[in-house]
Amino acid sequence: MPKQTVEKIEVPKGKVDMENYCYFNDEFIPLKDAKISLMTHAFQYGTGIFEGIRCYWNEEDKTMYIFKMKEHYERLTNNSKILMLELKHSIDEMCKLTVELVKKNKPTTDTYIRPNVFKSGTIIGPSLINKNGSNPTAFSIYTIPLGDYVDISKGLHVCVSSWTRLEDNALPPRGKIQGSYVNTALAKTEALLNGYDDSIVLSNDGHVSEGSAMNLFLIKEGQLITSLVSDNILEGVTRSTIIELAKNEFNIETEIRKIDRTELYTCDEAFFCGTGAQVSPIIKIDHRNVGNGKIGSTSKKLQDLYFDVVKGKHSKYKKWCTAVKY
Ligand code: PMP
Repeated sequence: MPKQTVEKIEVPKGKVDMENYCYFNDEFIPLKDAKISLMTHAFQYGTGIFEGIRCYWNEEDKTMYIFKMKEHYERLTNNSKILMLELKHSIDEMCKLTVELVKKNKPTTDTYIRPNVFKSGTIIGPSLINKNGSNPTAFSIYTIPLGDYVDISKGLHVCVSSWTRLEDNALPPRGKIQGSYVNTALAKTEALLNGYDDSIVLSNDGHVSEGSAMNLFLIKEGQLITSLVSDNILEGVTRSTIIELAKNEFNIETEIRKIDRTELYTCDEAFFCGTGAQVSPIIKIDHRNVGNGKIGSTSKKLQDLYFDVVKGKHSKYKKWCTAVKY
């Protein structure tokens, strides 16, 4: 394995400039100076939560559009309760800090924004609160250039993972908890090593949960189908965007219900969605063609609309985009 130096961390379609600013310990500092101790609780035990927010560069009006930023910070704020994190910023404050950070870094390519809230204490022991009642919590945000997380153009061949999704009573996927992404890592790695593009994970009761790090939609007889929030999914911002766009723009309803594994093999179309995955059509599952094995027309229609919306090109949905100019 080639050694990665901090100055040259490879990300999909771009390099992280370590001179870029991040927000850490209440100030904007260069990414290369943002350091945490080896003893940090979140590093020992995975006790932090995070968000992934995308912003899209619109070359025509030379504007960056941050997509559904408020919704991501609402989720972060709710999830901080699960791990008893002391998030000291309001949703509005976090939105303002994010805009300021983007303005400082001035990216002109599509960019990913990664806020983290984590247990920053250094006391050994997994408890979420120290014996003396203290609860050190850190908040950080950084940005990196990010192209397509998975190939959205060719159609994906995915498998059903041998790893099952975590249960709410064990390590709640709803929480977007750092430590729970080991489950995602196992599912994703297994899929890649076995020659697939990604994987679909089932819940312990055998029903379809979601993709490794994205939500899943099937299309059968013109209707969208997606899993229940109680089937151990992360309640995706993109998932609700798709449900709303499909209804408003194409008059397509979404049935939200339990999905059997074999429905994956018999549906007409399927696609992943998520901030990272965007809208990624699936053309094969476990070596069976989805529909006719080509990208489905409804998936394509939704994908095209989604890209117009997130890039601030659709006037009706500009309200979902925060425009940043510099
Ligand atoms: N499920 C999981 C496990 C994820 O990590 C993600 C990505 N955040 C999603 C679903 C999609 O969520 P969103 O649309 O809010 O990015």
